[in-house]
Amino acid sequence: MLDNLTQRLAKVVKTMRGEARLTESNTAEMLREVRLALLEADVALPAVREFIGKVKDKALGEEVIGSLSPGQALVGVVQRELAALMGADLGPEASQLSFAQQPPAIFLMAGLQGAGKTTTTGKLAKYLKEEKKKKVLTVSADVYRPAAIAQLEAVTRQVGADFFPTTASDKPVDIARNALDWARKHYYDVLIIDTAGRLGIDEAMMKEIAEVHAAVNPVETLFVVDAMLGQDAINTAKAFNDTLPLTGVVLTKLDGDSRGGAALSVRHVTGKPIKFAGVSEKLDGLEAFDPARMANRILGMGDILALVEEARKGVDMKAASDLANKIKSGAKFDMNDFKAQLAQMKKMGGMAGLIDKLPAQFQQAAGNANMDQAEKQVRRMVGIIDSMTPAERAKPELIKANRKRRIAAGAGVQVQDVNRMLTQYEQMNTMMKKLKGGGLMKMMRGMKG
Ligand code: GDP
Repeated sequence: MLDNLTQRLAKVVKTMRGEARLTESNTAEMLREVRLALLEADVALPAVREFIGKVKDKALGEEVIGSLSPGQALVGVVQRELAALMGADLGPEASQLSFAQQPPAIFLMAGLQGAGKTTTTGKLAKYLKEEKKKKVLTVSADVYRPAAIAQLEAVTRQVGADFFPTTASDKPVDIARNALDWARKHYYDVLIIDTAGRLGIDEAMMKEIAEVHAAVNPVETLFVVDAMLGQDAINTAKAFNDTLPLTGVVLTKLDGDSRGGAALSVRHVTGKPIKFAGVSEKLDGLEAFDPARMANRILGMGDILALVEEARKGVDMKAASDLANKIKSGAKFDMNDFKAQLAQMKKMGGMAGLIDKLPAQFQQAAGNANMDQAEKQVRRMVGIIDSMTPAERAKPELIKANRKRRIAAGAGVQVQDVNRMLTQYEQMNTMMKKLKGGGLMKMMRGMKG
C-alpha cells in the first residue's frame, strides 16, 4: 500500500531530520520534493496546495526555526498537517459512528458499483455486532442486480447478523421503509441499507438514493470509495457529496496498490471524515481510520499501534495463562508447550501483513529476509515435533542419536534440522525458567495492552 509515496516521503523525512539549519532554500527544496511526491500519488491539486501552504507557513515560524533541531520539528509539522488533511483537525469524535437516540440507527451505504459497498456492509455488520454488541439487520435496495441481493444475504449470514429479504420487483424506497418497520418491531439497534452502485452523473439514480435518504433519514450516510481509483474517486466523491448529506467516507482496497491520492484528498474535497478503511476482501478487513496513524504510515514512520493490535488479536490469552500457571507451578516446559508456542507465532503472522506496518527502514531490512522462508521454518519445526513419540515430547532429553535419525526420517528433514530445533527448544526452555517468577504472564499481559 502507498509504497511509492512512502518511499519518497521517507527519503525527504530523512534529509529533513539531518538538517541542523533550515534556510529558506533548503526548506523550499524539501517542500518541492513533498509536493512532487503527493502529486505523483494522485493527490488532488487543491489539497496539495493547501497542505504545502500550511507547512510552509509553519516551517518559517517560531515553532520550527526556534527549535533545537529544526529538521526534526519540520518533520513534526509535515506529520501533523498530513494528519489534518485526512481529518485529524476534526477531532477524534469525527471518525466515530453516530447512533440514533432512538434505535434503530440507520446507516445508508452509497457509492459506485464495485466500490465495495456490499462487502463493507458485511464488515460493518460484523464490527457492530462483535465490537459494539449491537443487534444488526441488513437490507439490499439494489433492485437492478438480483445477484447483489443474494450477495448481501450471504455476507450477512456469514457474520451472523440478520438479513431482511427483498425482491428485485420492489421499489428502493418501499424496501427501505419496510425494513425500517421490521427493525423497529424487532428491536434492532442498527439497520444497514446497501444500495445499487451508481454513477454520480446518472441523475435518475442519484435522485433515487436521495429519495431513499429522505424516506428513512439515516443517522449515517457513508460514501464507500475504492482507494485505487485515484483522481476519479475524488470526482465521484464530489458528485455524491453534492446530492447526499454524507456523514463519512469508507475508503476500501487500501490493501491494494493504491497510490494514496484518494486517502489524502477525499476529506479535503468533501469536508467529511474518513471513518473506516477496508484492508482486505475478508469480512474482518475493516479498520477504524485514524488520520495521525495513517500519516505516520505514509511518512514511513510505521504504525506501531496497528502492529500491537495485530499481535493482540493473535495472542490466545487462555493458552498463555495456562502456560504461565504451569511454569509457575514448577512443571517443565516440554515439546507440547513448545509446539503450542509455535502455533501462536503462526497465528500472529501472516508475517507479510505485519511488515506493512513497520517503519520504512525496518521494512527494507525485513524485505531482505525471506518471509516465506521464516514461515516454512516454523512449519518444519512443527513437523519435527509431530514425528516425536508422546514420551519424547514430554521428556526431550530422551532424544539421542538413534531417535534423532528416526524423527528426521519421519519429518522428511535432515538430522541437523532436528538438532537445530532442539537447540531452539533449549533456548526457549531457559527463557521460561527465567520467567518462572510470574514474568511470563506479565510479558503476555504487556502484549495484550
Ligand atoms: P459493490 O458493488 O460496491 O457492492 O462492491 P462489492 O462489495 O461487491 O466489492 C467489489 C469487489 O471488491 C469484490 O471483489 C470485493 O471482494 C472487493 N473488495 C471490497 N472491499 C475490499 C477491500 O477493502 N480490499 C480488497 N482487496 N478488496 C475489496
